[in-house]
Amino acid sequence: MYGTRCEDRSVGIGRSDGRRCDGLERMSHQPGSLRCAVIGAGMAGILSAIKLTEAGISDFTIYEKADRVGGTWRENTYPGLSCDVPSHLYSYSFALSPDWSRQFSPGPEIQAYFERVAEEHDVVRHVRFGDAVTRCTFSDGRWHLLTGSGHRDVVDVVIAATGVLHRPRYPDIEGLDSFEGSMFHSARWDHQVGLDGARIGIIGTGSTAVQITSAIVDQVSELSLFQRTAQWIMPQENPAISDQEQNDLREHPDQLAEKHQDLSDLFDLFANAVVDSESAEIKMIEQACLENLENNVHDPDLREKLRPNYRAACKRLIISPDFYAAIQRPNATLVTDAIERIEPTGIRTADGRLHQLDVLVLATGFHADSFMRPMEIVGRNGMTLEEAWDPRPEAYLSVSVPDFPNFFLLNGPNGPVGNFSLIEVAELQFRYILQLIEPIRAGRYRQICATHHALAQFEQEREQAAKRTVWVTGCKSWYLDDRGIPTGWPWSFVRFREEMKAIDPSAFESA
Ligand code: NAP
Repeated sequence: MYGTRCEDRSVGIGRSDGRRCDGLERMSHQPGSLRCAVIGAGMAGILSAIKLTEAGISDFTIYEKADRVGGTWRENTYPGLSCDVPSHLYSYSFALSPDWSRQFSPGPEIQAYFERVAEEHDVVRHVRFGDAVTRCTFSDGRWHLLTGSGHRDVVDVVIAATGVLHRPRYPDIEGLDSFEGSMFHSARWDHQVGLDGARIGIIGTGSTAVQITSAIVDQVSELSLFQRTAQWIMPQENPAISDQEQNDLREHPDQLAEKHQDLSDLFDLFANAVVDSESAEIKMIEQACLENLENNVHDPDLREKLRPNYRAACKRLIISPDFYAAIQRPNATLVTDAIERIEPTGIRTADGRLHQLDVLVLATGFHADSFMRPMEIVGRNGMTLEEAWDPRPEAYLSVSVPDFPNFFLLNGPNGPVGNFSLIEVAELQFRYILQLIEPIRAGRYRQICATHHALAQFEQEREQAAKRTVWVTGCKSWYLDDRGIPTGWPWSFVRFREEMKAIDPSAFESA
């Protein structure tokens, strides 16, 4: 049961004075049974399965719409795909790997890592593949799930591990469907389409478009990159990790753990920098990006076209050692005239020119506010998530939504996003969620969710803090909501770690 400091049950699970409950003690008797559903078998779903099992909760199903685990790393297969978080950091803390081939390993290697970890931890037998959850309804104190195949399940706890960026955003451009060549979104790459000698157009200049450009420019006959907004590019090299170094890490797991920790500390600095637009670190990042542009783009006209008119890291910072080299190849063109329409044979720009294309890649990003939608989720008193999230998604500390008891989110709205490891974020969140789940299993209460008051207060503080961040210094990005306010965590990562250590009982209501 809870430690004595947390015994006051008059305000839900916690104390009326609102002081923190610094950790929960286990019930002394055998815990009761608890059935859970995890939605999504990507990075966070695999993590959930492993951690539920470790906590002694074995009665759960992971619902996965696709036929493999891996989430974003399964869905994105575009050429050049890699993670811009170093692989030794973008790994589960409990499954560090000495085998990474590069500092920023390629996408297929990351996908293989998740598949291997899922196999090794016996996750796969819990997954119901090829069956998407379409509806979750909270009724009689439990969640009633319905899937696309008509399968039904009744569970005590739902963990939404549905990822952040998974619903492709198709651009609203006149004539899009009239294109007669091959056209696909970057997250739906069509590998049947040959690129050798093709005239290829890419719309967008985000992380995805930049990676694709560098990867294919030497393969295609012409590459036209359609840029609406220039990007700051951090010229981070991506060295191979030698066999010798991999062996050393294999033989010395302590060094592997140290590497993970060192990188985590380094990324804390970045996380601190972006939430303080006046920080010295942000200025250093800006300087490094500026030097990259000045020193590595030789044609003055092209340099000016590539020069952003907003501050570095305002949009998600792009990491690339070779994008500037790629866009300066003789067969590459940076098109900055606005796209007027798409025609059967190519893209017509505002200057009247028709850019003839065989293949058109839409690297136009994602609906960043989807999370688990369009799934229909009906909470307490018939409240739907659509209603709760009108006009925008909000979750207390990113994990709990009022009126949706026992429904917890990993990498949900308002959590840390940016150039750091979402794995670490999910691990911390899961530990926090487990503190909410344990008492349900122990029979201490049947249901719990954040209070409206806690969410309102959290949002108010979050919006206030967001004003200091670099994300509001004059650019548009998927980090911003419909009001232009950053949707993410506007404080340091250290604060996030602190918040995730122990629940604040006064922020929750239970029954
Ligand atoms: P994104 O950052 O949202 O970029 C979308 C791009 O498409 C932008 O350049 C945008 O221009 C452009 N665009 C959208 N609609 C357009 C239109 N109608 N006409 C012309 N241009 C249009 O998407 P993303 O590159 O796929 O990246 C999304 C996120 O995925 C990243 O920020 C990152 O979090 C993640 N990602 C990570 C990695 C990695 O290495 N870890 C790699 C790829 C992606 P504007 O800038 O003008 O809006």
